Amino acid sequence: MSKRLSIAIVGAGMGGLAAAATLRMAGIDVTVYEQARQFARVGAGIQMLPNSSRVLRHIGVEQKLRQTAFMPYSHLNRVWDTGEVKRELPMPEDLYGAPFLCMHRGDLHGALLENLPRDIICLNKKLTGLDQKNGRVTLSFADGTKAEADAVIGADGVHSLVRELVVGPDAPLHKGRIAYRAVFDTSLMNGKTIKPSRTKWWGPDRHIVIYYTKADRSEVYFVTSVPEPGDWITKESWSAKGDVKELRAAYDGFHDEVRSVLHACPDCHKWAILEREPLPTWSNGRVVLLGDSCHPMTPYMAQGAATSIEDAAVLARCFTAVEGDDIERAFRMYEATRKPRTSRIQAISSANTWMSGGSEDTSWLYGYDAMNVPLVEPTRAATDTHPR
Ligand SMILES: Cc1cc2nc3c(=O)[nH]c(=O)nc-3n(C[C@H](O)[C@H](O)[C@H](O)COP(=O)(O)OP(=O)(O)OC[C@H]3O[C@@H](n4cnc5c(N)ncnc54)[C@H](O)[C@@H]3O)c2cc1C
Repeated sequence: MSKRLSIAIVGAGMGGLAAAATLRMAGIDVTVYEQARQFARVGAGIQMLPNSSRVLRHIGVEQKLRQTAFMPYSHLNRVWDTGEVKRELPMPEDLYGAPFLCMHRGDLHGALLENLPRDIICLNKKLTGLDQKNGRVTLSFADGTKAEADAVIGADGVHSLVRELVVGPDAPLHKGRIAYRAVFDTSLMNGKTIKPSRTKWWGPDRHIVIYYTKADRSEVYFVTSVPEPGDWITKESWSAKGDVKELRAAYDGFHDEVRSVLHACPDCHKWAILEREPLPTWSNGRVVLLGDSCHPMTPYMAQGAATSIEDAAVLARCFTAVEGDDIERAFRMYEATRKPRTSRIQAISSANTWMSGGSEDTSWLYGYDAMNVPLVEPTRAATDTHPR
């Protein structure tokens, strides 16, 4: 690159923090603007399959996570009541050359955060507007302040304002399903245990995924998908509470192992499951989208954060690959490289068929190497140079 670029990232979630790390490794100056006043440890687990843990290794956070995360024996899929195995994929580390890690979401976020200099993260900066002029982008924030950068990455999640500015306003799709979830101390299970796998229990119109989030199995997590009449929606917050009695009733009749976990669970949160169709474009001039802001998906393949982290690795490579500081070409190359994959994952996640049986190939998903996958030359010409 002819000069040191400055990039502003909007959103310090999994994708934004991963992008801050990969861009810094590519020699780019990065500042991250996050609307939250402080980071909260939300009660949720997260799976990092080998396709994303390979990137976590590249940016230097794998070792820290390995000390505390649970490494499941397999990706196990069972019938809701009988427990019959529909499909099991053992996940030894050498299968895809990187570990399968299950952990508390706060542990992953904390590790990504610790990996960055503290002074590049600006809290309490809620983006309200963007203005592109003369090869620079001005960001405006709710507190009345402004900042400038050569380019902006919108990593601001499923309700992204940057997406609205790039693509135009619309609402994410809500197909009338919600996720209950809880992380709690295994000691509450009165000596009962679960299998050392990440187990998905498939019911006729609902499912539940259960796994440990700590290497010492001291914490257990579940996340569900159940129909919910109406269009109840979670906004930015991960703290909306669910009713544990309603939750238990929704899984009455499920296998003993499921019911013993739900019986032990002291309380739960709920979250509206949202998705989008693939967007027509990921960038506009010097503004680009990453993660849930451009390809939000149902959590059924556990790939939302994973694909955000892959995006971060590929986007940084595109900056390195373009000649000079052709930022707009780097953005189009990133979209051309990433969109076919994320669109495929969005579609399979939406259908909720992944690993429900059969012997379908899994290597295209878990064997993906974001640091080495060939970059795709963009065919799309530059779009408008100003956000709408
Ligand atoms: C129940 C559930 C379980 C899941 N399990 C998994 C899993 O096991 N594995 C997996 O890979 N994925 C999983 N996902 C998906 C994953 O959580 C998301 O895909 C991931 O968090 C997306 O990361 P992101 O950085 O794009 O967005 P987010 O993590 O949503 O981060 C966006 C950030 O932007 C900030 N922001 C928003 N607007 C503004 C603004 N105007 N100005 C400044 N900052 C702003 C937000 O405060 C937030 O910090 C799950 C999702 C759900 C709902």
